[in-house]
Amino acid sequence: MPTSSIPAGAFWAYIAAPVWVKERIYGTLAFMDARPRPEGFGSGEVEFLEMMATALGRVVERDLAERDRPLTEKRLDTAARLFGTAFDQAPIGMALVAPDGRFLKVNRALCRICGYDETELLAIDFQQITDPDHLQSDLALLRAVLRGERTDYRIEKRHIRKNGRRTEVEQANHRLERLAATDPLTGLANRRAFMAQFENALDRHAATGRSLCLLLIDIDHFKAFNDRFGHPAGDATLSRVAAAMTGSLGENGIVARHGGEEFAVLLPETDPEAGYALAERLRCDIARLRDLPAPVTISIGLGPCPPGSGQDDIARAELIALADRALYAAKAAGRNRVVTARR
Ligand code: GH3
Ligand code: MG
Ligand code: MG
Repeated sequence: MPTSSIPAGAFWAYIAAPVWVKERIYGTLAFMDARPRPEGFGSGEVEFLEMMATALGRVVERDLAERDRPLTEKRLDTAARLFGTAFDQAPIGMALVAPDGRFLKVNRALCRICGYDETELLAIDFQQITDPDHLQSDLALLRAVLRGERTDYRIEKRHIRKNGRRTEVEQANHRLERLAATDPLTGLANRRAFMAQFENALDRHAATGRSLCLLLIDIDHFKAFNDRFGHPAGDATLSRVAAAMTGSLGENGIVARHGGEEFAVLLPETDPEAGYALAERLRCDIARLRDLPAPVTISIGLGPCPPGSGQDDIARAELIALADRALYAAKAAGRNRVVTARR
């Protein structure tokens, strides 16, 4: 391997966007230039990168949807082929990098920049030619990406080294994945992560033939709460309620922030009666909280998913709609209550 051809001490301009596949970060699409660019990449390049990252995610997703085939580099190859000339002929270095740092796909310009050929580059990983310290310092930018405030992140001077430190890169990517899945205010799983867990649970559910429940939860009169105590107090309350829910459910369920002041709970292997009891306890535990500016109550819609249902997208959407209608009924019936949907 011609490591000597990597110019130790050279700087790269670097820009990357996450590639989302099935609610997870599948990898990052990166553009690299051998020259330092004090002015950074242009907006045209940024747009192009985002477009490619989105398109690539869609292609892989569609490909996966065809049948539950595992993700492999070979499949990705099919996807990347669709970019054809754009990827291969681009004058700028481009790479698709897996969360663990492996190169999944590299273009000719990148090979030229590094002095490796494609096979060599695919056999090593990103960290072997980058300074992991930079990855650590990028997290603020990544956070902004994950909050949706920006769709890309960029690191201008990336130092090329001969020997990377794998663990640091893995840690950084691990943090990236965790950030991508977490709601920053409450620390709960966010909607994106929840939907992925929900799908997995329903797949297991289909396999085990056990019952499962979905709870949709909404804080009562929270607008008035904000109006009365202010938005920061509202935020703190959301955070406190989230922690109390996690505590109340313990190992019985997975809590996620579904949106504003709405939460979703997945109760795997739980029949509707047991689900109702857990929801009722949850409701009481929240109403009993005293370390808040004022007590808050929650309304809960319970969507039961009997054995043998929920295997497909329609059944999943139906379960959510069912729980949502039950939540609406709980509100209409006076709030601070649990309503089980009738199938
Ligand atoms: P109900 O659900 O009982 O019908 O009444 P509500 O007032 O809670 O319902 P609505 O959906 O109309 O309002 C939800 C309010 O939740 C609106 C918004 O002020 C508040 N909210 C949503 N997200 C946040 C947040 O992140 N922080 C704070 N502080 N408030 C939020
Ligand atoms: Mg609401
Ligand atoms: Mg509400």
